[in-house]
Amino acid sequence: MTTYVIAPSPQPSIAVAGIDARFPVRRILCVGRNYAAHAREMGKDPTREAPFFFMKPADAVVDTGSVIAYPPGTKNFHHEIELVVAIGKSGSDIAEASALDHVFGYAAGIDLTRRDLQFAARDAGRPWEWGKAFDHSAPLAPLHLASQSGHIAKGAIWLSVNGVERQRGDIADLIWSVPEIIAVASRSVRLEAGDIIMTGTPAGVGALQRGDRVLGGVDGLTDIAISVA
Ligand code: MN
Repeated sequence: MTTYVIAPSPQPSIAVAGIDARFPVRRILCVGRNYAAHAREMGKDPTREAPFFFMKPADAVVDTGSVIAYPPGTKNFHHEIELVVAIGKSGSDIAEASALDHVFGYAAGIDLTRRDLQFAARDAGRPWEWGKAFDHSAPLAPLHLASQSGHIAKGAIWLSVNGVERQRGDIADLIWSVPEIIAVASRSVRLEAGDIIMTGTPAGVGALQRGDRVLGGVDGLTDIAISVA
């Protein structure tokens, strides 16, 4: 048995709906600008160029119901509601036709973003991490098993702040579908069981303030709720 010179970090994990066991998170891949209306609001042309990815650390996950501290270093802290895919079966060079066999389940999640830091990095040609990969930046609702709930290719995705709707879209409007995302990602890195993919946000992203109550959802999945302290 391996011994370590310091105590290993705890295994990050997310809840699974209806099951008294958790899904261990290995890493979080995120797709950028995957809805045309959101690409436009980011000042970009929504052409169907190859999808691009960035990552968050596994321990960015927090459960629904969490109170999240307003993060340091930003004056423009944004919400992005997203459909989240959990990989349950590893693979590389996965064919689009068999990509859904690798999906363990789906959840609603929020890609919390320090927009000012993301844009500063983007405009300087620097990495996005400080805008995207900070502590507690990936609140996720419980996963629903694909084997029970089926696969999600359409249905409403929405988010409200203090009871006022900010974001609404439809999963059918993803520029790159879930099977396409899995196929493309797996050509560049081996997807491992435990990997999470956040598939991108619809239009309507905006700033959060201390005290805000955020509620979001995807049709057929458990809602995600957080508040900002
Ligand atoms: Mn996002």
